[in-house]
Amino acid sequence: DDTLTIDRLVEWLAAFRDAVTEQRAWLTELDSAIGDADHGANMARGMAAVMDKLDQGHPATVDELFKSVGMTLVSSVGGASGPLYGTFFLRMGMTAGAVTSFDGAALAAALRAGLDGIVARGKAEAGDKTMFDAVSPAVDALDAALASGGSLAEATRAAADAALAGRDATEPLVARKGRASYLGERSAGHLDPGASSSAILFETLAETVSR
Ligand code: ADP
Ligand code: MG
Ligand code: MG
Repeated sequence: DDTLTIDRLVEWLAAFRDAVTEQRAWLTELDSAIGDADHGANMARGMAAVMDKLDQGHPATVDELFKSVGMTLVSSVGGASGPLYGTFFLRMGMTAGAVTSFDGAALAAALRAGLDGIVARGKAEAGDKTMFDAVSPAVDALDAALASGGSLAEATRAAADAALAGRDATEPLVARKGRASYLGERSAGHLDPGASSSAILFETLAETVSR
């Protein structure tokens, strides 16, 4: 099916919550190498708070859904990732408007706006070794797949693969933004934690769409 209803979007968020909870120790290990060892805890706590709120009843429209997600992340995650992921979802909601589902084009527009929000907030550029390096190629791949007539399942799979490749490409980089940048050259040789959680975000999207 080529639309994502609110229920499926909530399934995506639940799948992301489950995945960051399962991979919490690994995300924290990545952050212990080049940060302060809290990225797994930050993402697991934030997404648990998001789903606790949605379990009490979820909004009827996509804009309200992502507004709720973004606000909960901003208020429940203290680290850099709270405002960055929070802004990503808030911008997705603002762009979506009061619709009850996403087709491919609307999903792509919302994700592009979310990426722009990350940039507005954190000023990251390509190769700075941040979550931008996973999210940006994912959004580009989604656009390209849709432009060449791909289905929502094909396009989100292409996005997930691009996010994973982008995550892997952060390993040799020297960080220029965030806490890891304090390490200078010593930040090279490790995956970026935020790019790693972002790759999980796009993987769970592809899995939800094809389920
Ligand atoms: P903190 O660094 O405050 O402990 P987290 O550990 O939860 O927060 O998140 C760290 C991740 O946030 C980094 O791995 C990176 O991907 C992302 N990040 C940090 N600063 C920026 C920025 N300015 N722009 C984009 N992403 C950033
Ligand atoms: Mg950290
Ligand atoms: Mg921290």
